Amino acid sequence: MKIIDLRSDTVTLPSPAMRQAMTEADLGDDVYGEDPTVNQLEALAAEDLGTEAAMFVSSGTQSNLLAIITHCQRGDEYIVGQHAHTYRYEAGGAAVLGSIQPQPLDFEPDGTLDLAKVEDAIKPDDVHFAKTRLLCLENTQGGKVLPLAYLKEAGGFAQKHNLLLHLDGARVFNAAVKQNVDVKEIAAPFDSVSVCLSKGLAAPVGSVLCGSTEFIQEARRWRKMVGGGMRQAGILGAAGIIALTEMVERLEEDHANAQRLAEGLGGIPGFDVDMDLVQTNMVFVTPKDGLAGKFTPFMAKKGITISDMPAPIRLVTHYGIEATDIEAVIQAAKECSATFNLN
Ligand SMILES: *Cc1c(COP(=O)(O)O)cnc(C)c1O
Repeated sequence: MKIIDLRSDTVTLPSPAMRQAMTEADLGDDVYGEDPTVNQLEALAAEDLGTEAAMFVSSGTQSNLLAIITHCQRGDEYIVGQHAHTYRYEAGGAAVLGSIQPQPLDFEPDGTLDLAKVEDAIKPDDVHFAKTRLLCLENTQGGKVLPLAYLKEAGGFAQKHNLLLHLDGARVFNAAVKQNVDVKEIAAPFDSVSVCLSKGLAAPVGSVLCGSTEFIQEARRWRKMVGGGMRQAGILGAAGIIALTEMVERLEEDHANAQRLAEGLGGIPGFDVDMDLVQTNMVFVTPKDGLAGKFTPFMAKKGITISDMPAPIRLVTHYGIEATDIEAVIQAAKECSATFNLN
Protein backbone atom coordinates (compact mmCIF):
# COMPACT_ATOMS: atom_id res chain seq x y z
CA MET A 1 0.00 0.00 0.00
CA LYS A 2 1.30 3.47 -0.90
CA ILE A 3 1.62 5.73 2.10
CA ILE A 4 0.23 9.19 1.39
CA ASP A 5 2.26 11.50 3.61
CA LEU A 6 0.73 14.96 3.97
CA ARG A 7 2.77 16.16 6.95
CA SER A 8 5.19 18.31 4.96
CA ASP A 9 6.79 18.88 1.59
CA THR A 10 10.10 18.03 3.27
CA VAL A 11 9.22 14.33 2.91
CA THR A 12 9.65 14.49 -0.89
CA LEU A 13 12.08 11.98 -2.36
CA PRO A 14 14.49 12.91 -5.17
CA SER A 15 13.21 12.43 -8.72
CA PRO A 16 14.78 9.76 -10.99
CA ALA A 17 16.54 12.58 -12.90
CA MET A 18 18.04 13.81 -9.61
CA ARG A 19 19.35 10.38 -8.68
CA GLN A 20 20.89 10.07 -12.14
CA ALA A 21 22.48 13.53 -11.94
CA MET A 22 23.85 12.77 -8.47
CA THR A 23 25.52 9.63 -9.76
CA GLU A 24 27.20 11.42 -12.63
CA ALA A 25 28.05 14.79 -11.03
CA ASP A 26 31.49 16.32 -11.63
CA LEU A 27 33.03 16.86 -8.22
CA GLY A 28 35.76 18.78 -6.44
CA ASP A 29 36.46 20.28 -3.03
CA ASP A 30 33.82 22.96 -2.48
CA VAL A 31 35.65 24.52 0.48
CA TYR A 32 38.38 25.36 -2.07
CA GLY A 33 35.62 26.57 -4.39
CA GLU A 34 36.51 23.74 -6.77
CA ASP A 35 33.32 21.73 -7.02
CA PRO A 36 32.09 22.47 -10.56
CA THR A 37 28.58 21.21 -9.82
CA VAL A 38 28.17 23.40 -6.75
CA ASN A 39 29.60 26.35 -8.69
CA GLN A 40 27.06 25.71 -11.42
CA LEU A 41 24.21 25.50 -8.90
CA GLU A 42 25.29 28.74 -7.23
CA ALA A 43 25.52 30.56 -10.55
CA LEU A 44 22.10 29.26 -11.53
CA ALA A 45 20.51 30.27 -8.21
CA ALA A 46 22.00 33.77 -8.43
CA GLU A 47 20.73 34.13 -11.99
CA ASP A 48 17.24 32.89 -11.07
CA LEU A 49 16.92 35.17 -8.06
CA GLY A 50 18.58 38.11 -9.79
CA THR A 51 21.38 38.50 -7.24
CA GLU A 52 25.13 38.88 -7.78
CA ALA A 53 25.97 35.69 -5.94
CA ALA A 54 24.62 32.65 -4.14
CA MET A 55 25.91 29.97 -1.79
CA PHE A 56 24.83 26.36 -1.36
CA VAL A 57 24.17 25.48 2.28
CA SER A 58 23.10 22.40 4.18
CA SER A 59 19.65 23.58 5.25
CA GLY A 60 17.21 26.46 5.36
CA THR A 61 17.93 26.90 9.05
CA GLN A 62 21.64 27.32 8.35
CA SER A 63 20.88 29.67 5.48
CA ASN A 64 18.74 32.00 7.63
CA LEU A 65 21.29 31.88 10.45
CA LEU A 66 24.13 32.84 8.10
CA ALA A 67 22.05 35.67 6.65
CA ILE A 68 21.27 37.12 10.07
CA ILE A 69 24.78 36.85 11.47
CA THR A 70 26.25 38.29 8.27
CA HIS A 71 23.88 41.26 8.26
CA CYS A 72 24.05 41.95 12.02
CA GLN A 73 26.75 42.44 14.62
CA ARG A 74 26.73 41.22 18.22
CA GLY A 75 24.27 43.44 20.10
CA ASP A 76 22.17 44.23 17.04
CA GLU A 77 18.50 43.31 16.70
CA TYR A 78 16.33 41.84 13.96
CA ILE A 79 12.58 42.31 13.64
CA VAL A 80 10.76 39.11 12.72
CA GLY A 81 7.35 37.41 12.81
CA GLN A 82 6.27 35.84 16.08
CA HIS A 83 5.58 32.60 14.22
CA ALA A 84 8.35 33.03 11.65
CA HIS A 85 10.58 30.04 11.08
CA THR A 86 13.59 32.31 11.53
CA TYR A 87 12.49 33.15 15.05
CA ARG A 88 10.47 30.24 16.37
CA TYR A 89 11.68 27.11 14.63
CA GLU A 90 15.44 27.56 14.43
CA ALA A 91 16.29 26.89 18.06
CA GLY A 92 17.13 30.53 18.73
CA GLY A 93 20.27 30.27 16.60
CA ALA A 94 20.70 33.97 15.83
CA ALA A 95 20.54 34.81 19.54
CA VAL A 96 22.59 31.85 20.73
CA LEU A 97 25.31 31.82 18.08
CA GLY A 98 25.20 35.43 16.88
CA SER A 99 24.33 37.34 20.07
CA ILE A 100 21.65 39.02 17.97
CA GLN A 101 18.41 39.88 19.71
CA PRO A 102 15.12 39.05 18.01
CA GLN A 103 12.19 41.46 18.20
CA PRO A 104 9.20 39.31 17.26
CA LEU A 105 5.90 40.88 16.12
CA ASP A 106 2.63 39.15 15.31
CA PHE A 107 2.04 38.38 11.65
CA GLU A 108 -1.06 39.94 10.09
CA PRO A 109 -3.68 37.45 8.85
CA ASP A 110 -2.23 37.73 5.32
CA GLY A 111 1.28 36.73 6.43
CA THR A 112 2.77 40.24 6.26
CA LEU A 113 4.24 42.29 9.08
CA ASP A 114 2.38 45.60 9.45
CA LEU A 115 5.03 48.20 8.61
CA ALA A 116 3.49 50.73 11.00
CA LYS A 117 4.00 48.23 13.82
CA VAL A 118 7.50 47.52 12.58
CA GLU A 119 8.22 51.25 12.65
CA ASP A 120 7.03 51.42 16.26
CA ALA A 121 9.34 48.54 17.14
CA ILE A 122 12.48 50.16 15.72
CA LYS A 123 14.59 51.21 18.70
CA PRO A 124 15.85 54.79 19.01
CA ASP A 125 19.60 55.36 18.97
CA ASP A 126 20.08 55.28 22.74
CA VAL A 127 22.42 53.33 25.03
CA HIS A 128 19.45 51.51 26.55
CA PHE A 129 18.61 49.70 23.35
CA ALA A 130 19.92 47.14 20.94
CA LYS A 131 20.55 48.52 17.46
CA THR A 132 17.71 47.57 15.13
CA ARG A 133 19.50 46.42 12.02
CA LEU A 134 17.43 43.93 10.04
CA LEU A 135 13.87 43.13 9.05
CA CYS A 136 13.03 39.51 8.15
CA LEU A 137 9.98 38.53 6.13
CA GLU A 138 8.75 35.08 5.13
CA ASN A 139 7.19 34.13 1.75
CA THR A 140 5.21 31.97 1.53
CA GLN A 141 4.11 32.37 5.13
CA GLY A 142 2.00 29.41 6.25
CA GLY A 143 1.23 28.80 2.56
CA LYS A 144 0.15 32.42 2.04
CA VAL A 145 1.64 34.56 -0.71
CA LEU A 146 2.80 38.08 0.19
CA PRO A 147 1.49 40.71 -2.28
CA LEU A 148 4.16 42.14 -4.61
CA ALA A 149 3.08 45.69 -3.77
CA TYR A 150 3.72 44.97 -0.09
CA LEU A 151 7.21 43.64 -0.82
CA LYS A 152 8.04 46.80 -2.72
CA GLU A 153 6.71 48.92 0.11
CA ALA A 154 8.80 46.93 2.59
CA GLY A 155 11.87 47.58 0.42
CA GLY A 156 11.29 51.34 0.52
CA PHE A 157 10.52 51.17 4.23
CA ALA A 158 13.77 49.36 4.99
CA GLN A 159 15.79 51.89 3.00
CA LYS A 160 14.11 54.79 4.70
CA HIS A 161 14.86 53.36 8.13
CA ASN A 162 18.35 52.18 7.26
CA LEU A 163 17.42 48.53 7.85
CA LEU A 164 18.62 45.54 5.89
CA LEU A 165 15.92 43.27 4.51
CA HIS A 166 16.08 39.45 4.47
CA LEU A 167 13.55 37.08 2.96
CA ASP A 168 13.09 33.59 4.32
CA GLY A 169 11.93 32.32 0.94
CA ALA A 170 11.93 28.65 1.86
CA ARG A 171 8.95 28.29 -0.50
CA VAL A 172 9.43 31.44 -2.58
CA PHE A 173 8.99 29.48 -5.82
CA ASN A 174 5.50 28.49 -4.68
CA ALA A 175 4.76 32.22 -4.41
CA ALA A 176 6.25 32.95 -7.85
CA VAL A 177 4.27 30.15 -9.51
CA LYS A 178 1.08 31.22 -7.79
CA GLN A 179 1.52 34.88 -8.80
CA ASN A 180 2.81 33.87 -12.23
CA VAL A 181 5.77 36.23 -11.91
CA ASP A 182 9.51 35.79 -12.28
CA VAL A 183 10.92 35.02 -8.84
CA LYS A 184 13.37 37.91 -9.45
CA GLU A 185 10.48 40.31 -8.94
CA ILE A 186 9.80 38.88 -5.51
CA ALA A 187 13.49 38.91 -4.60
CA ALA A 188 14.23 42.42 -5.89
CA PRO A 189 13.54 44.48 -2.73
CA PHE A 190 15.63 42.20 -0.50
CA ASP A 191 19.29 42.29 0.50
CA SER A 192 19.27 38.51 0.84
CA VAL A 193 16.96 35.61 0.08
CA SER A 194 17.09 32.05 1.38
CA VAL A 195 15.47 29.34 -0.75
CA CYS A 196 14.90 25.68 0.20
CA LEU A 197 15.72 23.16 -2.51
CA SER A 198 14.59 20.29 -0.32
CA LYS A 199 10.89 21.06 0.09
CA GLY A 200 8.48 21.14 -2.85
CA LEU A 201 11.44 21.28 -5.24
CA ALA A 202 12.28 17.76 -4.02
CA ALA A 203 16.07 17.85 -3.68
CA PRO A 204 17.21 15.52 -0.88
CA VAL A 205 19.28 18.16 0.96
CA GLY A 206 20.10 21.84 0.79
CA SER A 207 19.17 25.47 0.44
CA VAL A 208 20.69 28.41 -1.38
CA LEU A 209 21.40 31.80 0.16
CA CYS A 210 21.39 34.61 -2.41
CA GLY A 211 22.70 38.18 -2.16
CA SER A 212 25.48 40.54 -3.17
CA THR A 213 29.01 39.27 -3.86
CA GLU A 214 30.31 40.96 -0.73
CA PHE A 215 27.52 39.55 1.44
CA ILE A 216 28.02 35.99 0.17
CA GLN A 217 31.78 36.24 0.62
CA GLU A 218 31.30 37.18 4.26
CA ALA A 219 28.59 34.53 4.75
CA ARG A 220 31.05 31.88 3.49
CA ARG A 221 33.27 32.54 6.48
CA TRP A 222 30.34 32.07 8.87
CA ARG A 223 29.31 28.92 7.01
CA LYS A 224 32.79 27.50 7.60
CA MET A 225 32.61 28.49 11.25
CA VAL A 226 29.35 26.63 11.89
CA GLY A 227 30.72 23.54 10.19
CA GLY A 228 28.81 24.00 6.96
CA GLY A 229 31.81 23.84 4.62
CA MET A 230 31.17 20.62 2.71
CA ARG A 231 33.69 18.97 0.43
CA GLN A 232 32.37 17.06 -2.63
CA ALA A 233 28.99 18.70 -2.12
CA GLY A 234 28.26 18.51 -5.84
CA ILE A 235 26.69 15.11 -5.16
CA LEU A 236 23.92 17.10 -3.47
CA GLY A 237 24.25 20.17 -5.65
CA ALA A 238 23.47 18.07 -8.73
CA ALA A 239 20.00 17.41 -7.34
CA GLY A 240 19.70 21.11 -6.53
CA ILE A 241 20.28 21.99 -10.18
CA ILE A 242 17.44 19.67 -11.22
CA ALA A 243 15.29 21.23 -8.47
CA LEU A 244 15.74 24.68 -10.05
CA THR A 245 15.53 23.61 -13.68
CA GLU A 246 12.88 20.89 -13.69
CA MET A 247 10.80 21.10 -10.53
CA VAL A 248 9.53 24.68 -10.37
CA GLU A 249 6.73 24.57 -12.93
CA ARG A 250 5.19 21.47 -11.44
CA LEU A 251 4.49 23.28 -8.13
CA GLU A 252 1.30 24.30 -9.89
CA GLU A 253 0.12 20.67 -9.58
CA ASP A 254 0.65 20.84 -5.82
CA HIS A 255 -1.42 24.01 -5.66
CA ALA A 256 -4.23 22.44 -7.70
CA ASN A 257 -4.14 19.36 -5.46
CA ALA A 258 -4.32 21.53 -2.33
CA GLN A 259 -7.32 23.38 -3.76
CA ARG A 260 -9.11 20.13 -4.58
CA LEU A 261 -8.28 18.70 -1.15
CA ALA A 262 -9.58 21.80 0.62
CA GLU A 263 -12.84 21.80 -1.36
CA GLY A 264 -13.31 18.07 -0.78
CA LEU A 265 -12.68 18.20 2.97
CA GLY A 266 -14.71 21.38 3.37
CA GLY A 267 -17.75 19.56 1.96
CA ILE A 268 -17.65 16.77 4.55
CA PRO A 269 -19.59 17.08 7.84
CA GLY A 270 -17.25 17.55 10.79
CA PHE A 271 -14.46 19.37 8.96
CA ASP A 272 -13.84 23.11 8.86
CA VAL A 273 -11.50 24.39 6.16
CA ASP A 274 -10.50 28.05 5.89
CA MET A 275 -10.47 28.55 2.11
CA ASP A 276 -8.74 31.94 2.40
CA LEU A 277 -5.62 30.15 3.59
CA VAL A 278 -5.49 27.82 0.59
CA GLN A 279 -3.18 29.79 -1.68
CA THR A 280 -0.34 27.41 -2.50
CA ASN A 281 0.37 23.88 -1.26
CA MET A 282 -1.09 24.00 2.25
CA VAL A 283 -4.53 23.26 3.63
CA PHE A 284 -5.56 23.88 7.24
CA VAL A 285 -8.37 21.69 8.52
CA THR A 286 -10.13 21.65 11.88
CA PRO A 287 -11.89 18.39 12.76
CA LYS A 288 -14.79 19.30 15.03
CA ASP A 289 -17.77 17.77 16.80
CA GLY A 290 -16.99 14.09 17.30
CA LEU A 291 -13.93 14.10 15.06
CA ALA A 292 -11.46 16.01 17.23
CA GLY A 293 -8.61 13.69 18.11
CA LYS A 294 -9.98 10.93 15.88
CA PHE A 295 -8.99 12.18 12.41
CA THR A 296 -5.23 11.58 12.46
CA PRO A 297 -5.37 8.03 13.91
CA PHE A 298 -8.27 7.06 11.59
CA MET A 299 -6.38 8.26 8.52
CA ALA A 300 -3.20 6.48 9.67
CA LYS A 301 -5.06 3.16 9.43
CA LYS A 302 -5.85 4.03 5.80
CA GLY A 303 -2.18 4.66 5.00
CA ILE A 304 -2.55 8.44 5.13
CA THR A 305 -0.03 10.21 7.36
CA ILE A 306 -1.21 13.46 8.89
CA SER A 307 0.46 15.55 11.58
CA ASP A 308 -0.59 14.89 15.11
CA MET A 309 -0.83 18.60 15.95
CA PRO A 310 -3.42 20.77 17.64
CA ALA A 311 -6.07 22.00 15.15
CA PRO A 312 -6.01 23.51 12.65
CA ILE A 313 -4.07 20.58 11.21
CA ARG A 314 -1.75 21.47 8.34
CA LEU A 315 -1.89 19.24 5.25
CA VAL A 316 0.80 19.79 2.64
CA THR A 317 0.72 18.67 -0.99
CA HIS A 318 3.98 17.95 -2.82
CA TYR A 319 5.92 15.99 -5.42
CA GLY A 320 4.88 12.34 -5.12
CA ILE A 321 1.27 13.13 -4.21
CA GLU A 322 -0.96 12.65 -7.26
CA ALA A 323 -4.50 13.81 -7.97
CA THR A 324 -5.70 10.21 -7.40
CA ASP A 325 -4.11 10.29 -3.94
CA ILE A 326 -6.10 13.41 -3.13
CA GLU A 327 -9.32 11.61 -4.07
CA ALA A 328 -8.29 8.72 -1.79
CA VAL A 329 -7.71 11.17 1.08
CA ILE A 330 -11.12 12.78 0.56
CA GLN A 331 -12.76 9.33 0.43
CA ALA A 332 -11.04 8.28 3.66
CA ALA A 333 -12.11 11.51 5.35
CA LYS A 334 -15.73 10.80 4.32
CA GLU A 335 -15.43 7.36 5.91
CA CYS A 336 -13.98 8.96 9.04
CA SER A 337 -16.94 11.34 9.21
CA ALA A 338 -19.46 8.51 8.63
CA THR A 339 -17.76 6.20 11.16
CA PHE A 340 -18.27 8.74 13.88
CA ASN A 341 -21.91 9.25 12.83
CA LEU A 342 -21.65 12.69 11.39
CA ASN A 343 -23.48 12.01 8.11
C1 LIG B 1 11.55 24.55 6.28
C2 LIG B 1 11.69 25.99 6.50
C3 LIG B 1 12.92 26.55 6.82
C4 LIG B 1 14.16 25.75 7.17
O1 LIG B 1 14.51 24.72 6.37
P1 LIG B 1 15.29 23.45 6.92
O2 LIG B 1 15.98 23.00 5.67
O3 LIG B 1 14.25 22.51 7.40
O4 LIG B 1 16.24 23.87 7.97
C5 LIG B 1 12.99 27.92 6.93
N1 LIG B 1 11.91 28.68 6.77
C6 LIG B 1 10.71 28.19 6.46
C7 LIG B 1 9.56 29.10 6.28
C8 LIG B 1 10.56 26.82 6.33
O5 LIG B 1 9.35 26.32 6.05
